[in-house]
Amino acid sequence: MEYEAVIGMEVHVELNSRSKVFCACPTDFHAPPNTNVCPICLGLPGALPVLNRDMVDKSLAVGLALNCEVSRWSKMDRKNYFYPDLAKNYQISQYDLPLCHDGFLEIEVDGVVKRIGITRAHMEEDTARNTHALGGGQSGIDFNRSGVPLLEIVTEPDLRSAKEAFVYLTSLKQILQYLEVSDCNMEEGSLRAEANISIRPKGTTEFGIKTEVKNVASFSGVQKAIEYEIARQEKLLIEGGAVTQETRGWDADRGITFSQRKKESAHDYRYFPEPDLPPIVVDERWEARIRGQLPELPIARKQRLEKTYGLTAYDAHVITLSKASADYYEATVSAGADPKKAANWLTVELQALLSDAKMEIQTCKIAPQSLAGLLKLMNTGEISGKIAKEVLVRMFESGQTPERIVKEKGLVQISDASAIESAVRKVVEANPDQTAQYKAGKEKVFGYLVGQVMKATSGKGNPQLINDILRRELNRQEQ
Ligand SMILES: [Zn+2]
Repeated sequence: MEYEAVIGMEVHVELNSRSKVFCACPTDFHAPPNTNVCPICLGLPGALPVLNRDMVDKSLAVGLALNCEVSRWSKMDRKNYFYPDLAKNYQISQYDLPLCHDGFLEIEVDGVVKRIGITRAHMEEDTARNTHALGGGQSGIDFNRSGVPLLEIVTEPDLRSAKEAFVYLTSLKQILQYLEVSDCNMEEGSLRAEANISIRPKGTTEFGIKTEVKNVASFSGVQKAIEYEIARQEKLLIEGGAVTQETRGWDADRGITFSQRKKESAHDYRYFPEPDLPPIVVDERWEARIRGQLPELPIARKQRLEKTYGLTAYDAHVITLSKASADYYEATVSAGADPKKAANWLTVELQALLSDAKMEIQTCKIAPQSLAGLLKLMNTGEISGKIAKEVLVRMFESGQTPERIVKEKGLVQISDASAIESAVRKVVEANPDQTAQYKAGKEKVFGYLVGQVMKATSGKGNPQLINDILRRELNRQEQ
C-alpha cells in the first residue's frame, strides 16, 4: 500500500513591538534577566492587562498579507494550564474568535504553485523562559519574555511533503521580514515552528492519527524531522501497529524524533473569555489603514524587478529572497549601475563572499554606491573584470571605495598601447615554439599566449587590447 503524508504547520512569531502585549515593559531581548518586568507580566494578583495597539496593527498586517479575513469582533481568552514559566496559571490567547482567519499563502515547489490554506492567525502572550543550565541542578526563570507579543499562524493540513513544509516556512518568513514585524531569529526563539504529521493510504480522504513535532531549531531541521516522522509512521502501520497521538521532540544529533508527552485536547485547557480585557473591534477604517501601509510583498516585487530591469526569473527570485537584498539591488541600480550587471555581481560575486563569511547583506561593508562605482570602473575600461573581482574582495574586507583601492594599489588597467606592444613582443620572443605552432594554424596556442601577456602585465592589461595587438603582431611576423 502506498501512503501519503498530511502535514499542517503552526508557527509562533514574536512581534517586534517595543513594549509587551499587556504592559509597558520593554521587549528588549538582550536585557539582564528579570529586569523588564512589572506586576502585570509577573502575573501578580490584581494586576490588570491593557492590550497593546501596535500588536493588533502588526497582527492585522500579517493576516492581510496572508490573504486572511479580519474579524470585525474578536476577543482574548484564558488558556488555563500550570507551568513554572506561566506565573498566572493561564496564558491570555485567542480561542474561538481569532483576529484573522481563512487566508492562504501560495508556495512554489518544483515549478508548481500550490495554495496553502491559513486557518487562523491569533494573538497571544509569550511565556517566561526557563533556563536549566545554571549549574548545581538549579533552574532559573526569566520573566523578560513573559508577555512578549506572540502571533500564532496555523495552516490547514494542506502540505503533502517535508519539502513543501520547508518551502512554506521559508515563504512565510520572507513575508514576515518584508512586513518588518519580527526579526524572525529562530536561534533566539523569535520564530518557532511545529509540524502536525499524519499519513493515510493514498487516494483516501480520512485523516490518520497525527503526531506533533516541536522545538526544532531550524527549517532544515523541521524538514528532516518530518521526513523521519513520515518514515516512522509508515513502518508502524506496515508492521500492523498504530500511531499514538502525542507530542514528539527532535534530536538533531541522532536525527530522530522521540516521544515527549501525550497530547492535551482543547477542552483540557478550560478556555473562557478573558474578563479583564474588552473585545477587539476592528472596523473597516482600521483594516483599510493597515492595508494601505502594507509594503510591496515578495511575489509582487519579484515580478516588478523582472519587468522593470529585464531580469531573469531566477535572478529576480534570488534578489528578492530578502527585502534587504532587494533594497540593496535597487539602491545599486539607482546609483547608476547597469541593472543586469548589478544583478550578476550581487547574486554571484558578492553572494559568494557573504556565504563564505556567513554574513547577511545587512552587515556587508560595501555600500550599494560602491558596488555601482566598481561596475563603472569596469565599464569605462579603467580596470578589467579580473581586477574588479580582486577589488571587490578588498572592498568587502575594508569597506573602502573601489576608486580608492584601485588608486592605492595601482590596479588601473593598462590601456596604453605601447606598454602592451612591448609586453607582446617579449612574450612572442620568449615563446618561439608556440609562435611557430600558431603560424602553423594551431589556433589554440593563441589563448596560451594571451595568458602569458596578461601575466607579464600583472593581470592589468586591457584584454581586448592584448588580443588585438597580439593577433596583429603574430600576423605581421607571418608576412
Ligand atoms: Zn510588564
